[in-house]
Amino acid sequence: MKRSFIKTFTALACTLVIACTAGAANPNRQIDRLARSIWKGSIDNMTRDRLYAMYRMQDYMDSLSSDTFNAYLKADEQTRREMEKGTVLRYYQIALDKLVREIPRTRVEKGTVAIWHLYNMGYVVKTPSQCFAVDIKHPEASRLVPFLDFLLITHKHGDHFTDAMNKAMTDAGKPVFANWESDSYPLTNLKDTRELQVGGIKVRTALTDHNAKLQNFVITYLVDCGEDTDHTVFYLTGDTNNTEQVNPGCPVDIFIPHILVGLDVPKAAAQVDPCWMFSSHLHELGHKLTLWRWSYFDGLDISHETHRRNVFVPCWGDKVVYRRSAVVR
Ligand SMILES: [Zn+2]
Ligand SMILES: [Zn+2]
Repeated sequence: MKRSFIKTFTALACTLVIACTAGAANPNRQIDRLARSIWKGSIDNMTRDRLYAMYRMQDYMDSLSSDTFNAYLKADEQTRREMEKGTVLRYYQIALDKLVREIPRTRVEKGTVAIWHLYNMGYVVKTPSQCFAVDIKHPEASRLVPFLDFLLITHKHGDHFTDAMNKAMTDAGKPVFANWESDSYPLTNLKDTRELQVGGIKVRTALTDHNAKLQNFVITYLVDCGEDTDHTVFYLTGDTNNTEQVNPGCPVDIFIPHILVGLDVPKAAAQVDPCWMFSSHLHELGHKLTLWRWSYFDGLDISHETHRRNVFVPCWGDKVVYRRSAVVR
């Protein structure tokens, strides 16, 4: 009896040692586990596990300085892998990996759109027949280029685009819509209100203010995703802060604003009256920890202030499918 107890105890101790050693050998294990818990829920399904994992992930977000993040963006691939270990940069990378894996594999049903989120304002939208992205920021963003038909950029701030992705898109003959010109690649420069069409997707643009100094600095995009999505409409307002300018002039399915740029969010949400809203521009890691680095909890607070259903806080790597007829308002 005694011997069997010692044997069992020794086996248990060995298992524990192996488990602890494996944990030490894999500094990413905790981050990966939290990311999986976040993704088990989804943008429109805030499970208890997801909320808890967001709470834990926030600690990692708050442990990364803007200096480290900016160094990471400039580093080569090998250095980036090293820097990711045990930090929130690992989450940033596996979120991009998830998009690269899922976007080509996802078959989008008629009447729906599939949506992925990456970083603070980045989204990829796939319809049954087309795919586009807005405001994608990641050092490996060019890996998304093969899946995209076009790219929208709301304005020339570094958290909303990368030169490498813009160049890769234009080298592939795919349009990049923005409101500036570049010597390095041919952007489609939108200087005023325009109506665009790419395949079955129609886009209406307008210029809006970012703040008192940067007037008419942001392009908003009203995107009708086409007949095979039952004309799902996105209203992407980037870093627009002028509430009066947030007026789509038509019914909107999904409204994606920067919620902490000075916009009166409850008023803007009431004006747009969308079926879904994504409270965006959280975790801009390029900003110092004490300035304009908004957390999940800022996102949840502002969402709550709208007193509306279906106002969600997205997390990096999230995927969600939208079907208007399934939305309970
Ligand atoms: Zn901005
Ligand atoms: Zn921004």
